[in-house]
Amino acid sequence: MNYTKENIKQIVNDEKVEFIRLEFTDMLGDTKNVELPIEEIDSVLNDEAMFDSSSISGFSEIQESDMFLVPDLDTFKVLPNNVDEDCIARFICDIYTPDGEPFDGDPRYILKRAMKEAKDLGYTVNVGPEPEFFLFKLNEEGYPVRKMNDRAGYFDASPKDKGDKVRRDIVRTLKKFGFEMEASHHEVAEGQHEINFRFDDMLKTADNIQTFKNVVKDVATNHDYHATFMPKPITGGNGSGMHCHLSLFADGDSAFYDQHSEDEISDTMKHFMAGILHHANGIAAITNPNVNSYKRLVPGYEAPVSVAWSHSNRSCMIRVPMTRGMGTRFEVRHPDPTANPYLTLAVLIQAGLEGIRKNMDPGEAETRNLYEVSDDSVPTLPTNLKEALKALKKDEVLMEALGEHTSKIYLEEKEQEWNTYSLQVSQWEVDEYMNK
Ligand code: GLN
Ligand code: MG
Ligand code: MG
Ligand code: MG
Repeated sequence: MNYTKENIKQIVNDEKVEFIRLEFTDMLGDTKNVELPIEEIDSVLNDEAMFDSSSISGFSEIQESDMFLVPDLDTFKVLPNNVDEDCIARFICDIYTPDGEPFDGDPRYILKRAMKEAKDLGYTVNVGPEPEFFLFKLNEEGYPVRKMNDRAGYFDASPKDKGDKVRRDIVRTLKKFGFEMEASHHEVAEGQHEINFRFDDMLKTADNIQTFKNVVKDVATNHDYHATFMPKPITGGNGSGMHCHLSLFADGDSAFYDQHSEDEISDTMKHFMAGILHHANGIAAITNPNVNSYKRLVPGYEAPVSVAWSHSNRSCMIRVPMTRGMGTRFEVRHPDPTANPYLTLAVLIQAGLEGIRKNMDPGEAETRNLYEVSDDSVPTLPTNLKEALKALKKDEVLMEALGEHTSKIYLEEKEQEWNTYSLQVSQWEVDEYMNK
C-alpha cells in the first residue's frame, strides 16, 4: 500500500489505534521494537522518534547512541486482533543518525544500497523465499521441550499432521497483514512445516520474512506450541532451510529468459549465478549465520553441500526450476531462516551483480548427485561457521556490500560466538570418549 501521512492519521482515528509500534531489525536478524502511545503519532510521522541504541547488536561501537526511527509509511499496518487484543499499529522503520544520515549499521539500509546498485545497472530483483520451521511442544511452565508436535512426514494429512490448524491460522493472520499466500504443507521431518507466500521486490520480501517469522511464533504460542526456525533442531533429521528464488528484470521484462539459447536461460542469468557461486563461501557467513547452520549443510537431507548449479539436483547450492518466460528464475538453496533477511538479500545481489559486471561463467550444469561424489572435483560450502567467517573476511565484494561498520562488528560478534561454542564439551563427546 502507498500511504500518505494524512491517510494514516485517518485510519488511526477510524480504527481507534491506541499504540504505535516502531519495528526494525538488528544486525543478527532479530526484530526489535518500541511502542509509543497514539498521542505521539505526529512526532512519529515527522521522523522525530528517537531511541537509545546502545544495547542493540550492531550498534555497540557507536559513540553517539541516540538514533532516529524513521517509519516507512508503506509498511503501516493495524495489527490483526488475533495477534494482539490491544489496538496497535506498526511501522517498519529505517534508522537515521542525529545528523540526518542513514545509519551504516541498519540492515535495511544495506539492502537498499544493494538495490540501488542493481537499479543503476538497469535491474530490479524479485525474491520468493521458502522459510521452513518446526513446531515443538511446551512444558507446564510454557517453555519449549524437544518433542515435536506430531509424527507426520512430507505432505501427510490430518490427523497424522497435527500442524494443519496452526498453519491455517498463520495463513489467515498473514492475509490480514496483506500477504498473498500460497501453498502450505507438512514438511519432511516430524513436526516440520512450510508455508509459502508470494514473491515481491527485495525490500518488501525482507520485511515480509520478518513479519512472517513473528506471526508464526505468535500463532504457534496461541496453539500452545513453540515455533523454531533453528536450522537443525534434531540430530539425524531434515533441517529447516529458507530457499530464495531470485528473478531479475530489465525494462519490465525478464533479464533471465532467453528463448534463443539452448536451455532458454540468458547469459545475464548465468553471470549472476556465477557471481553468487564465486562468493558462496563468504555469503554463507551471512546466509548460514550460526554454529547450528552448518549441521544442516550435510549430505542426505535435501540441503546443499556443493558450490554448483543444476537444473534439478537438490544437492547443489543453486537449482534452476523448469519455468521459463517471466517466471525464469533460480533457487539459492543454502540460506536458512535464522539469517538476517536484509543482509542475506544484500550479499546475494551484490555478488550476482559482480558476476554480471565481470561476465563470470558458472560452468556446466551439474547432473550428478553430489551427495555421492567423494572426490574434490566440486567445491563445497563451508563445513562450519569459522570457515565461513574466514571466507567473508577475505571477500572484498561482500565486505563492501556490508560496509565497514557492519562487517567489522558482525565478524567480531560471530567470531566470539564460534569461540564460545568451541569451548563447550558436548554430551556426544562425553559418551564417546569417557571410556577411552
Ligand atoms: N528442508 C530442506 C532444506 O534444508 C529442504 C526440503 C525441501 O523443501 N525440498 O533445505
Ligand atoms: Mg517449498
Ligand atoms: Mg521445503
Ligand atoms: Mg525450494
